[in-house]
Amino acid sequence: MENNNPAKNLIEKLINSDDVYLSRVKSLGDTLKTLLKGKVPEGILQDLQLLDSMNPAKKRNFLKIILFHLNSQPYNEIKTTKNEEKPKNRFTIFDLEKYEINNLSSLTTLEKKSFKKIMVKNVYQALYNFPEKYEDRRVKKILKVKDGETGTFYAQVEDIKKVNRGKLKVEVILRQDNVLFSALFFYDKPYLYTYFRKGRTVKLFGKVSVYKKNYSLIQPDLLEEKEDPIDTIAPVYSLRGDSSIKTTGQTINHLRRGMFKIVEKFSDVKDYIPNFILEKYNFPPLSKALKFIHHPDENTDIDELNNFQNIHQKRLIFDELFLLQLAQKYRKALLQRNPSYNIKVKEDFLQEVEKNLPFQLTNAQKRTIKEILSDLEKEVPMNRMVLGDVGSGKTVVAAISSLAVALNNYQSAVMAPTEILAQQHYNNFKNFLKPYLKDYEIALLTGSLSSTEKKKIYKAVESGIVKVVIGTHALLEEKLKFKDLALVVVDEQHRFGVEQRKSLIERSEKKPHVMVMTATPIPRTLALAYYGDLDISKLDELPKGRKPVKTVILFEKERDKLYSVIKQELEKGRQVFVVYPLIQESEKTDLKSAEEGFKHYQEAFPDYKVVLLHGKMKQEEKDRIMQEFKEGKAHILVSTTVIEVGVDIPNATVMVIEEAHRFGLSQIHQLRGRIGRGQYEGYCFLMAPDELSQPQSDSSKEKSRLKALERLKILVKTNNGFEIAEKDLELRGAGDIAGVRQSGESGFILADLKRDEELLEIATKEAQEMINQDPTLSKYKELKDVVYKMYADKFDLVSIA
Ligand code: ADP
Ligand code: MG
Repeated sequence: MENNNPAKNLIEKLINSDDVYLSRVKSLGDTLKTLLKGKVPEGILQDLQLLDSMNPAKKRNFLKIILFHLNSQPYNEIKTTKNEEKPKNRFTIFDLEKYEINNLSSLTTLEKKSFKKIMVKNVYQALYNFPEKYEDRRVKKILKVKDGETGTFYAQVEDIKKVNRGKLKVEVILRQDNVLFSALFFYDKPYLYTYFRKGRTVKLFGKVSVYKKNYSLIQPDLLEEKEDPIDTIAPVYSLRGDSSIKTTGQTINHLRRGMFKIVEKFSDVKDYIPNFILEKYNFPPLSKALKFIHHPDENTDIDELNNFQNIHQKRLIFDELFLLQLAQKYRKALLQRNPSYNIKVKEDFLQEVEKNLPFQLTNAQKRTIKEILSDLEKEVPMNRMVLGDVGSGKTVVAAISSLAVALNNYQSAVMAPTEILAQQHYNNFKNFLKPYLKDYEIALLTGSLSSTEKKKIYKAVESGIVKVVIGTHALLEEKLKFKDLALVVVDEQHRFGVEQRKSLIERSEKKPHVMVMTATPIPRTLALAYYGDLDISKLDELPKGRKPVKTVILFEKERDKLYSVIKQELEKGRQVFVVYPLIQESEKTDLKSAEEGFKHYQEAFPDYKVVLLHGKMKQEEKDRIMQEFKEGKAHILVSTTVIEVGVDIPNATVMVIEEAHRFGLSQIHQLRGRIGRGQYEGYCFLMAPDELSQPQSDSSKEKSRLKALERLKILVKTNNGFEIAEKDLELRGAGDIAGVRQSGESGFILADLKRDEELLEIATKEAQEMINQDPTLSKYKELKDVVYKMYADKFDLVSIA
């Protein structure tokens, strides 16, 4: 049908005619302009004015470019073979998975290999493998380009010469129409002379520098002089993937060409987002969005694209966020259809319990406990997260909740991430609950118990004698059976995957109530995004009388100051934590290991006992050392971040963070929360390398220096965990916030919670409204299928349904 296109016919004829004819035809520009209006980019229409004044070779080239735009090249060339025939109906995203890249006959071997490199196996994965950014490879006129822009340029070689100006080695003089410009190279290679033969028309891609009206291309790529679908706003894909497959400078281009073919052929995907939502936000249909994100229109604003603000991109970001929200809300709705244990609580229960505590509860604790108790009284399972800064007193909240359960003759399981913490909880629970529960009604189950001891506990739990079992991962062992598990408490949530949580939930007939406690102050957007299935209680108040920890940044050269404070504190009988960053085995950087640091501190404080704790030690050894420190027999504890969570040592007043710039802010904030818990004032020293104290001459180094310092200063300025987490999110991005589900796990490809807060709000709102209206998504079958496809496993949707 496109052969009926008069413009195309004319152009094809012209391209095939000889130079004499081409030089003679008149007013071609105007004719074509009329014929082409609306069919090619505006820039080309404007350039048509120049057509008549071009020499034949240029005319031909320019016509070829127009032809490329006219043809949906190279798409018409894709041969349709039997097994990849386009169905009459549109594809669903499920159909797309059936088309394997390797079986697509339209793709070249090299194109297929580029997909293999990025481990994309089928068309679905390909279409959802979104570009990271875009590169301007549009065919341009040199005079229309601004300094720093990139583009593809056709030009004729006037001259090539060796030069020796600084780094500059070769200069090529080029002519485009009547404009002379140059291509500059910082190397001198024979193939430059082969490529840049005088008089030849060449095609170059690169960045343009404009200096005093002189235009030059800086070390451009030398291209074959023919049309190429990538001469456009070209997507830049990540080439991360199978490291055994080598890449070349051309891999990305093979991938682009392959993607273009796939997009053209398969992007006609059926939408799963209902129309009323699309219309409300002016979102384009899925097929259009998918096509656009891989192959934006030529006239699109590149900055807008690279900031992911184009409506087609937004539509796909919305999809990601909306599907996750919907999965979470749907999960929550499903859970609430399951019966749970009904925990009856006497009216004066809380007042009663408080009388027997060694302190008065804070208002935040009371409010949180009330929220929990009211959940427990309902017959649907609680699913609540208790968010509380370090030291806000989460343990007692958990203890009181489990007491309410025990008084109803049901059981609770409390899971802690480390043995030391499980032990500490066990002691605290026994202490808090002494007036109500006998010692044998509270049990500690950890991996280091002998199998006889374990068996004894299994038996006691199964018989129902044990009311509260506290432990580590050992609680997840299948041999542990409960009589009536009504409450699951997970402390320091981030250490456990959703899978582990779910394995505990499946232990009894009814669904237990679930409460997760985290000390990571999660910014609101992250909480919304990742924990949409949970209700949230905030412990936003510290117990009275806590003195804020004094935080100071010190550079290596000021280490003496640090040692004199430590000395003072040790003389007063206080204790000191020193924390080193974890050493990743793959990391080549020369980090001071905790072991070296340990020796260092031993030498600096010969009169005191310094002990070392690190992750590779056996559990018993860690416990022994921690115990020693707790009892005050050791004075300085040097460790890797294993002490990060929960350990309570009121006599410790100094926290030294070595190589502080390598830590996340929230992580440091949690660490310093370990001190200043007793009646004494606490100090936190952030040790930074000397490089951070001096301005750097390299401007990018200087920038990162200032950024590193700015980050650390936030800790000096504020003691509010939520504020710190917000700043950390702003400066480092979601992936780095300690304790937040890894972005990989959440499955976000496009969404950036920092950037897309607004879309997240919309997605949350729409998901909630949809679930309110139709909790089982029975009216949205296609959408429900997609939710299951993405999240059935992750959120255990099948078994709770
Ligand atoms: P986190 O929220 O970090 O887990 P913990 O539960 O370990 O905090 O509590 C920190 C310390 O504060 C513990 O020693 C605990 O006994 C104490 N504590 C908890 N609540 C209060 C309170 N309301 N008043 C005084 N001290 C409290
Ligand atoms: Mg705790």
